[in-house]
Amino acid sequence: MDNVGSNLYRIPASAMNYLDPADIRSWHAHVYFDAATRDAAWTLREAIEARFGKIVQIGRFHERPVGPHPMWSYQLAIAREHFTTVVEWLTLNHGALDVFVHPNTTDALRDHRDAAVWIGHSHRLDLGALGG
Ligand code: ZN
Repeated sequence: MDNVGSNLYRIPASAMNYLDPADIRSWHAHVYFDAATRDAAWTLREAIEARFGKIVQIGRFHERPVGPHPMWSYQLAIAREHFTTVVEWLTLNHGALDVFVHPNTTDALRDHRDAAVWIGHSHRLDLGALGG
């Protein structure tokens, strides 16, 4: 424990290359599903629309993999100021569905590969779709 702490403190702050959250323009949450969980995904979508329809842009209900997403999915576009409200609700109410959450900066590959947040289980993305 002492070693871990001392190692952290030995790295000078100037050597760290932290990214600035101010570069996050918005967030996406992608709700994943398949044929077996389609109805649950639709029910969750309706609940999201009823509760957050004014603050979340809900994308198409894709019953096939699109872009880097390995499962069927739909996208929720969330402004930064609504992130906590929406993501807190999703963490408690996603049921058996997995949700891939990522920021939108100017670097789509990094956003999807290195800055992913998962609710439920994680999945391997098709990063080739993003030039990865
Ligand atoms: Zn996205």
